[in-house]
Amino acid sequence: MAAAATAAVAEMRVVICGGGIIGAACAYYLSRAGVTHITIVERASIACHASGKAGGFLARDWGGTFALQSFDLHAELGRVLEGTDYRPVETLSVSMGGSGGGSVLPAWADRCGAAASRLGTTATTVSLARGRTEEAALRTDKQIDEESGRGGGRAGADGDN
Ligand SMILES: Cc1cc2nc3c(=O)[nH]c(=O)nc-3n(C[C@H](O)[C@H](O)[C@H](O)COP(=O)(O)OP(=O)(O)OC[C@H]3O[C@@H](n4cnc5c(N)ncnc54)[C@H](O)[C@@H]3O)c2cc1C
Repeated sequence: MAAAATAAVAEMRVVICGGGIIGAACAYYLSRAGVTHITIVERASIACHASGKAGGFLARDWGGTFALQSFDLHAELGRVLEGTDYRPVETLSVSMGGSGGGSVLPAWADRCGAAASRLGTTATTVSLARGRTEEAALRTDKQIDEESGRGGGRAGADGDN
């Protein structure tokens, strides 16, 4: 029974529309689950839209359960994938023209008359290089075959693009 289920998963053919972080993550986790025929249909190039233009900042505790799970999954990707530039960071909220940042601000900023409070620690906030996680997730098993440009682009994990 289990062998049949495994074989059925291996036989699946999955087409994913869009090569942003969602599409790349779906491909990565499906691949880990044993799906071998995965094609991403991307009309331009991997991480060319929101995922490649975002601030590259993740916060663990600024949302609900979904955000928590997402943060932890991203931490896993940062550990297991090469080249994501996943960096836990200390984060501050800084405003000019105030005072009171002395305890958390670097001296050069404090001298500019800035006020600051701590937003997050290395356990709760992360900086990412835009586009690198998507590329790393799609690089893991097989080289990405990609055609980009107006009119259609495809990136696949099954090599029959
Ligand atoms: C300016 C900005 C800053 C942000 N900053 C942050 C941040 O700091 N932290 C954070 O967590 N989130 C941030 N976000 C939100 C985050 O970027 C998005 O939630 C996330 O990237 C969405 O990923 P996605 O894969 O769903 O979409 P996208 O990255 O947009 O990917 C969708 C892909 O689908 C392709 N596509 C669309 N239609 C078709 C079609 N018909 N056929 C083929 N391909 C198609 C597109 O070309 C694109 O590559 C920011 C967003 C923006 C815009």
